[in-house]
Amino acid sequence: MEEGVRIRRKLFGKKLCPNCLHPLKVIGALSGWVTPPRYFCEKCGYSGFVALEKAD
Ligand SMILES: [Zn+2]
Repeated sequence: MEEGVRIRRKLFGKKLCPNCLHPLKVIGALSGWVTPPRYFCEKCGYSGFVALEKAD
């Protein structure tokens, strides 16, 4: 039970661009949990697997 809540929180956490701190879009999550999500920044064009996580 507790683990499920934790996973959910992680999924909905805000991801920020490591270059410009703009909120990132998640792309390439089509194959589900097996593939790590890839992030894309609309502002500076950054794309990759590294994202800063914003603490609420
Ligand atoms: Zn950016």
